[in-house]
Amino acid sequence: MGTISIALSKGRILEETLPLLARIGASPKEDPQGSRKLILGTERRGLRLIVVRASDVPTYVGHGAAELGIAGGDVLAEHGGAGLYQPVDLGIARCRMMVAARPNYDYAAAVRQGARLRIATKYVQIAREHFAAKGVHVDLIKLYGSMELAPLLGLADAIVDLVSSGKTLRANKLVPVEAIMPVSARLIVNQAALKTRRAELQPLIDAFQKAARQGTPA
Ligand code: ADP
Ligand code: MG
Repeated sequence: MGTISIALSKGRILEETLPLLARIGASPKEDPQGSRKLILGTERRGLRLIVVRASDVPTYVGHGAAELGIAGGDVLAEHGGAGLYQPVDLGIARCRMMVAARPNYDYAAAVRQGARLRIATKYVQIAREHFAAKGVHVDLIKLYGSMELAPLLGLADAIVDLVSSGKTLRANKLVPVEAIMPVSARLIVNQAALKTRRAELQPLIDAFQKAARQGTPA
């Protein structure tokens, strides 16, 4: 039995994954938030954590560099999911992908009138599909963060971004105008690895499934 790697990102995903890891006996052997190490051993024999950028998780798992990964539905939709199984919705890192605009921007009227919308987002793929399905013409402006600034500075009419509490939108005087999809983090598995190493991987998938069903404290 070889080593199994789980790719995941620091911050919210790792934080909310820790209780699940504890339930399956796979807590990291050292404090992951404090550590600068990118490879962390766990209490579960042969299982290690690989710390990568959130948007790189599907890449590591898709290429088989890590057998397993934990990634948000946003990242998976944006990546496309090639070479990946997504067997377990972990129910963590819950939020919603939304369209938001300035309060004085009449989004409904703009859409109704067939206006060409300028949309700033990190989620170009998700935004493109969402507006294409509605038959709305958009110019997409790719940003890497601080999306809330774009409508305020006239860079875009609206943004597509993740919203949980809505605090960041409110703090920047933006309002949600449309929900695109609910988002939560999922366990992902390299498809080829699941075929060749099912005896090692299936018990882990089942363990995550069971741990996720026990729910997360609100
Ligand atoms: P990064 O900013 O590097 O993408 P984050 O830790 O902010 O990393 O986000 C990682 C993942 O956590 C996202 O892909 C998404 O699935 C989820 N996430 C992001 N923002 C929120 C939020 N406000 N509430 C809940 N989950 C979120
Ligand atoms: Mg973030």
